[in-house]
Amino acid sequence: RAALQAQSMALSDAMRIACDFYRQNLRSAPQAITYLQGRGLTGEIAAKFGLGYVADNWDSLRAVFPDYEAMALVECGLVIDRTDEEGNNRKRYDRFRDRIMFPIRNAKGQVIGFGGRVLGQGEPKYLNSPETPLFQKGNELYGLFEARQAIREAGYVLVTEGYMDVVALAQLGFPQAVATLGTACTATHVHKLLRQTDHVIFSFDGDNAGRRAARRALDACLPHATDNKIIKFLFLPKEHDPDSYVREFGHEAFEQQVRDAMPLSQFLLNEVSGESDLSTHEGRARVQFDAKPLIQAMPPSSLRLQIVRGLAQLTQSAPTEIESLFELSKPVAR
Ligand code: ATP
Ligand code: MN
Ligand code: MN
Ligand code: MN
Repeated sequence: RAALQAQSMALSDAMRIACDFYRQNLRSAPQAITYLQGRGLTGEIAAKFGLGYVADNWDSLRAVFPDYEAMALVECGLVIDRTDEEGNNRKRYDRFRDRIMFPIRNAKGQVIGFGGRVLGQGEPKYLNSPETPLFQKGNELYGLFEARQAIREAGYVLVTEGYMDVVALAQLGFPQAVATLGTACTATHVHKLLRQTDHVIFSFDGDNAGRRAARRALDACLPHATDNKIIKFLFLPKEHDPDSYVREFGHEAFEQQVRDAMPLSQFLLNEVSGESDLSTHEGRARVQFDAKPLIQAMPPSSLRLQIVRGLAQLTQSAPTEIESLFELSKPVAR
């Protein structure tokens, strides 16, 4: 156990050293500064998020790690070991090259991973740290450390898909934003969010992937949707994400989007009634069929009762019929 602790200590040291190095590099990389400025970011916001740059070299990190051969560099995902089929001719090189670097911090502010974006076009657009002893992707929310105080002040958190959404929102006066890092919103994410605030607004991209992400977030939220929580979904025009929207239309327009965000109850009822024909028996039955697992995932509450009533109205049924059909055994408060 002591050995394990010593090892993870070394990993977090390596990440901190790399982060400082990338930040230092940004100062002397005019093309990277120009890129960030082109996306509307000031040096102040870049500093707040610890943004950096890594040059187009295979072994930039040798400059700050005299022992470039240390296993810790592989274990924290900063370098990659490649061997031939016989396991010989080991070659070691930096994972991140010629990218804008976004450090991902844990609750204590320690750097546990990185996201790296190409400047302009290129594949992959983003490269993330692999899963390491420090970094489990499905558990982390980018920007949470930086946003914590602002979430408390605003009274709500904005949950986005990407690094640039968080940074651009902060730039334009919404520092209460975090991102799920391109993965689906997990139960762990929801748990972490609701530990910070009782008001969560999901603001994903307006495209189909963003719609799917919102649906996954709905599913992850249902077990936690109680009467003292506010969970909403903000849907942007198809061609926008929070970054592009707030930069094109400004703070006040995004504020209006926040005010107009759709409550969980309405999103749920929209989701289940979307494809069915409510004018037929079969269509209404289908809506109830689709709603059943979602409503069953909710704890008993007044909110659940309200959704049952909404569903009853949509499907020309009595709330009590739905309650018995869905086996919502524990009676809800009336
Ligand atoms: P940008 O505005 O810089 O073009 P974005 O954040 O709008 O980027 P999206 O394509 O909407 O990019 O993806 C959302 C998030 O998903 C990214 O911020 C990143 O965390 C993750 N992501 C996107 N593409 C990749 C990729 N190729 N590999 C790993 N993660 C990715
Ligand atoms: Mn997208
Ligand atoms: Mn996007
Ligand atoms: Mn974007």
